[in-house]
Amino acid sequence: MSPSALPPQDETLEALTKEGIKHNIFETAPSLSQYPKDPHIFELDASRLATTLTPSPRPVPELGSPEMASQKTCTDHMIQAKWTLEHGWEAPRLMPYGPIQLMPTASVLHYATECFEGMKLYRGFDGKLRLFRPELNCRRMLLSTNRIALPAFPPEELLKLIVALCARDGPKWLPKSRPGTFLYIRPTMIATDPALGVQRPTEALLFVMLTCFPPMDSIPGGMKLLASQDDMVRAWPGGFGYAKVGANYGPSLVAQGEAARMGFHQILWLFGEECTVTEAGASNFFVVWRTKVSPEEAAEGKKGHLQLVTARLDEKIVLDGVTRRSVLELARERLSAPQEHGLDLEPLEVVERKYTMFEVEEAAKEGRLVEAFGAGTAWFIAPVGLVHFRGKDYAVPQKEGDGGSYTKVIKQWLKGIMWGEEGMQKDEWGYIVEEKE
Ligand SMILES: *Cc1c(COP(=O)(O)O)cnc(C)c1O
Repeated sequence: MSPSALPPQDETLEALTKEGIKHNIFETAPSLSQYPKDPHIFELDASRLATTLTPSPRPVPELGSPEMASQKTCTDHMIQAKWTLEHGWEAPRLMPYGPIQLMPTASVLHYATECFEGMKLYRGFDGKLRLFRPELNCRRMLLSTNRIALPAFPPEELLKLIVALCARDGPKWLPKSRPGTFLYIRPTMIATDPALGVQRPTEALLFVMLTCFPPMDSIPGGMKLLASQDDMVRAWPGGFGYAKVGANYGPSLVAQGEAARMGFHQILWLFGEECTVTEAGASNFFVVWRTKVSPEEAAEGKKGHLQLVTARLDEKIVLDGVTRRSVLELARERLSAPQEHGLDLEPLEVVERKYTMFEVEEAAKEGRLVEAFGAGTAWFIAPVGLVHFRGKDYAVPQKEGDGGSYTKVIKQWLKGIMWGEEGMQKDEWGYIVEEKE
């Protein structure tokens, strides 16, 4: 076939990915594909969960203790489910937390066939245990497994397994005497094939653990971000930046470590020669700025209007964060006419678009940069106080000690929903985990 007979390159690539994903779903999760279900291949099924409780429960660390902050302390139990190409999913297990066995040849150890999720279990001020929009995480996990040929599963079954673990360990590890606290939830999937061949996995393990985790959302003076350099790119079109796959994170740690050594908290990941702003560390990134006016308008004393800006998702180089989505939805609903929500704030236009570090730089120089924050489960809503770009520091005003007014109000709303504060609940977003009394 002559090269000219080939369809344009990007179409071929896209078709290849689409075919691969269709094939993956067909092979690994019959119930999700349009084909008839193969009776010999079992779907992930939370109703088959078998429970083995730990013989040696561990003490819960004190609040503020080193164990609490170490991100090493997990609760008493975990979930595991094994999958093989031949039989599909085995019955999932709730079992004592502990090491997992892998052969040194296991696919994940060589080819990064791994993906994960990050969620939290909240102990509410009303005494209830809640997850925050967990169905979005379970759907994203499926998107990530598909991107790296790990087996598919019905997302609602994963959610049921997560809920089972939270219901088991939540009451002890997030006691009612500690309202306003949380545990971090880490669902993970790895390919376990004990063979070095570079190929689609035929064996996999799903596991879920709950970890003690420190709050990271109030850094005095705000987070300091170091804009990435041209020789370090996090994600690129056609890549996998939109999926929560381990392969996105390992290679970013050189830059992260260097940034930390220089006193920065996170990298602000830029893309391409235009220095498009994408994300801050493993958080989505938002700025509030005032739009530019012409010199004539400025001479007449006119000011631009306020915008809340974040990167678009369409190039698939940015992760579709649950926090990002929630910030956008709340801001669209309540900040376009803040007075109607009892707020003495100027209206804010919500904009998802491609924007560059040069625009942020210009806004900062002209005094139009109003606020900036990172948004993600781990860092929650973390005000940004400074961005360092090409040898210069650009300060972001910190007028209320906790970022600016918009950052603060968005954070309060989310907190209210996550921790069930009086009058703040949003039933569709807060998922209550029933506890066995
Ligand atoms: C996890 C993550 C986020 C935040 O997503 P949430 O669903 O809000 O926790 C943002 N960017 C990257 C790169 C991430 O890994």
